[in-house]
Order: sequence, then structure tokens, then C-alpha cells
Amino acid sequence: MLLQGKTAVISGAASKRGIGRATAELFVEHGARVAILDIDGHAAEEAAAELPKVPHGDHVGIRCDVADRDSCISAADVVAKAFGRIDSLINNAGITQPIKTLDISEADWNRIISVNMTGILFLSQAFIPNMRDNGGGSIACISSVSAQRGGGIFGGPHYSAAKAGVLGLAKAMAREFGPAGIRVNSVTPGLIQTDITGGKLTPEMRADIIKGIPLDRLGDARDVANIYLFLASDLSAYVTGAVIDVNGGMLIH
Ligand code: NAP
Repeated sequence: MLLQGKTAVISGAASKRGIGRATAELFVEHGARVAILDIDGHAAEEAAAELPKVPHGDHVGIRCDVADRDSCISAADVVAKAFGRIDSLINNAGITQPIKTLDISEADWNRIISVNMTGILFLSQAFIPNMRDNGGGSIACISSVSAQRGGGIFGGPHYSAAKAGVLGLAKAMAREFGPAGIRVNSVTPGLIQTDITGGKLTPEMRADIIKGIPLDRLGDARDVANIYLFLASDLSAYVTGAVIDVNGGMLIH
């Protein structure tokens, strides 16, 4: 029970097969009370209602568009009223768009950057004051192997740029808020089977990708949730500004 009596906020956690949802389930198994934030408010409420109960209060599901600053601020108000202290924020929401550089429109660029990168700034800005006033907390920021190797199968160059930007933003926030007891780290998953990826792989694509993964399989949502759990828990009390790969060894060279 690594999060007994703790509270956690997880963005992009309504999607049934997603990393955020698996994280909410794992955190609750470890005793946390969670707030599920998602662009789909109805799905967020349903997801929160389906989680097993914990003794220190009900889970909540809230509509939040991470790309909209006001939406992040009002979600933070609702969570603060319900929970009081917020121990961890998992900045997990994200979207992809498989597209080539010359085909990216200005609207495509702005949408991918705003959800994947600006959203992490907005949501962190909304929750940091609560953490700072309560003596600290942990923030995890989702990046991707696409940031490290420049592109992937599902995200375009704008997705790589956004996910690379997350790494710099997280390190800067780690420096700025370390003295306030707030740790900020990034997670860089490889290919994880979720709705973003799962249904879209042909058997040939899958076999080809696995050839490049020393652990000989694609990742699943729990593989990433386990890293978020480590970062939210006191096991990572002396870890900040770090980038944690969860990719089966894909980048070993
Ligand atoms: P997912 O199942 O699609 O989960 C993403 C969630 O974010 C969905 O619930 C989605 O809601 C929500 N969302 C989208 N736009 C949002 C917004 N503006 N505000 C709030 N929530 C929003 O995908 P996933 O694979 O679990 O991805 C989770 C994170 O991991 C993403 O940031 C992704 O880039 C990153 N990642 C994934 C992989 C992979 O291989 N799967 C690899 C590296 C990094 P809707 O379903 O309603 O759109």
C-alpha cells in the first residue's frame, strides 16, 4: 500500500484501455483517493464511480480540457474543495496525429502542442499552489520515446516536438519547485498497447517493432502505471528532474 491515505489527480484517465485509467486503478489498489480528469466529463465520472472505494472519501471524475487554462483552474478548485491536500499530479493526457512534416497545418501544430505540452504547464500551474501550501508533492509528466528518437509510428513531428518540450518543462519545474518539496519527473514510454496504438497495428507491423525491443514484447498500460506509482510514492523521495524510460530496451544501442 504505497499511497495509503494519499490523494492523486490523473489527467486523461477516462479511456478504458488507456494508461491513465490503469494508473487510477493501480493507485486505488495502493490506497489512494483519486480525481480523474478528462476531456470527456461523462466518461470521467463513470470511471471514478467504477473504482473500488477507499476509506478517506469518494473518488471524483471531472471534465477538464488540459489545453484550456480556465478549465484546469476550475478542475483544481473542485478537487481542492473535495480533497483538501493534493499529494500527486499525473500529467498523462495526450493526443497523437500520424502525419508528415510538410502536411502539418498551423491548426494541427497548435492542437498537438497545446494538448501534449501546454496542457502540462496549465495543469501544473493549477495544482502547484495547493502542493506548495501543503509542504510538497509529486508531479509526473508524460513524454514519449518519440521525443528521444524523433518520431514514431503514431505521432507526427509536432508530437515529437511537444513531447521533447515536456522534458525541458519538467526539468525547469523540478529546479524551481524542489525547494518547496515538489518533485517533477518525466516518463518516456515506448510502444504501449492502448487505444492510441493497439487497434492500429497489423501483425506484420507488430512483429517488425518487436524485433527492435530486447524485452521481446510491446508494453501495456500497467508497465507505465507502475512507474507513475513509483514517482507518486515516497520510494522516489530523492528523485526529481529525472526522465524514466519504459520501453523494453528499445533505445539500447
Ligand atoms: P489514450 O487511451 O487515448 O488516453 C489519453 C486520454 O487523454 C484519453 O482519455 C483522452 O480522452 C484524454 N484526452 C485527450 N485530449 C485531452 C484534453 N485536451 N484534456 C484532457 N484529456 C484529454 O492514450 P494512452 O496511450 O493511454 O496515452 C496516455 C499518454 O501516454 C498520452 O500522453 C500519450 O501521448 C502518452 N504515450 C503513449 C504511448 C503509447 O504507446 N500508447 C507511448 C508514449 C507516450 P478521449 O479518449 O476522450 O480523447
